[in-house]
Amino acid sequence: MSRIDVATTLRQPAELVAHGLATADQLAGLEQVAARYAVAVTPDIAALIDPNDPADPIARQFIPTSAELALQPGERADPIEDQKYSPVAGIVHRYPDRALFKLVHVCAVYCRFCFRREMVGPGKDSALSDTAYGVALDYIRAHSEIWEVILTGGDPLMLSPRRLAEIMSDLAAIDHVRIIRLHTRVPVADPARISAELVAALRVAGATTWVALHANHARELTLKARAACARLIDSGIPMVSQSVLLRGVNDDDATLEALMRAFVESRIKPYYLHHGDLAPGTAHLRTTLARGQELMRALRGRVSGLCQPDYVLDIPGGHGKSPVGPTYVEPAKSCVDDGDRPQETRYCVTDYCGDVHLYPPEP
Ligand code: SF4
Repeated sequence: MSRIDVATTLRQPAELVAHGLATADQLAGLEQVAARYAVAVTPDIAALIDPNDPADPIARQFIPTSAELALQPGERADPIEDQKYSPVAGIVHRYPDRALFKLVHVCAVYCRFCFRREMVGPGKDSALSDTAYGVALDYIRAHSEIWEVILTGGDPLMLSPRRLAEIMSDLAAIDHVRIIRLHTRVPVADPARISAELVAALRVAGATTWVALHANHARELTLKARAACARLIDSGIPMVSQSVLLRGVNDDDATLEALMRAFVESRIKPYYLHHGDLAPGTAHLRTTLARGQELMRALRGRVSGLCQPDYVLDIPGGHGKSPVGPTYVEPAKSCVDDGDRPQETRYCVTDYCGDVHLYPPEP
């Protein structure tokens, strides 16, 4: 595989063409895409892309295509309706015990499937003002049911260690906030950013910090990325993963298996596999729910429970996440009634090989 060596983050379609990540005849279309959705490919991500592979799974995630200009029925700017559940700027309070706190609107890289693609990027609101930050903090203080605050975005690890330390300390000072979870792509996209200073900023007395790493292909977990995660974990910060099921990136048995194994080898517990959201211009990257269930069933048969994420769908309309993985148990039609015992429902349970068994078994 040839390697693309760049010194700085690529943000312009012309730069992608100059480095062989797009062709000159694609340029006009890509300019249109970039005018609407942010583009950024860090040197670490560029180095992972094989420019000679037109189906490269890393390129598919980060290199824009004119397919993004085609909107499909049902796609919407705010597919999971963050706005509807935003009582004050920066806060999304959808579930009682947790709230999203969106501090920044920028990321190290811009994913072509992003469900917040209309909201993130350099051209959008960049960060909460000091006043808005104070109002958001007051909202969390006033809602004692908020046990967990999820810093997301944008990517919270784009903030400086100094600013992150202030935010962590403000949140940990609120008695009822016991968990602070940060969602990030930085350990993969720019692992050097996970410095000792940044790690120290995330550890705070009074609350437990968790970090959720977003990665979609095992190749993203390079030695440098694994080392960045190890710096977080070795400092006492547990990590979980989140991935998106993406057509042409990870929608086959072996690729999904390799990704989950790579997480577990890196001491990151697989947490969520998201079904692709109805974000505008992302139909070419979505699979069907049936395909997702098929992949989850195959994964169950191939790797241990440690490697199993929950396959979830964010229900359009802001109704929250639901597990949508395959079911392994359903009521059986046959029942026993021996006269003394109440009638007992039996179940058909499917094992990891796909064979079906009755539970309780026949006496
Ligand atoms: S890092 Fe997250 S918020 Fe940023 S573009 Fe990717 S999916 Fe969207």
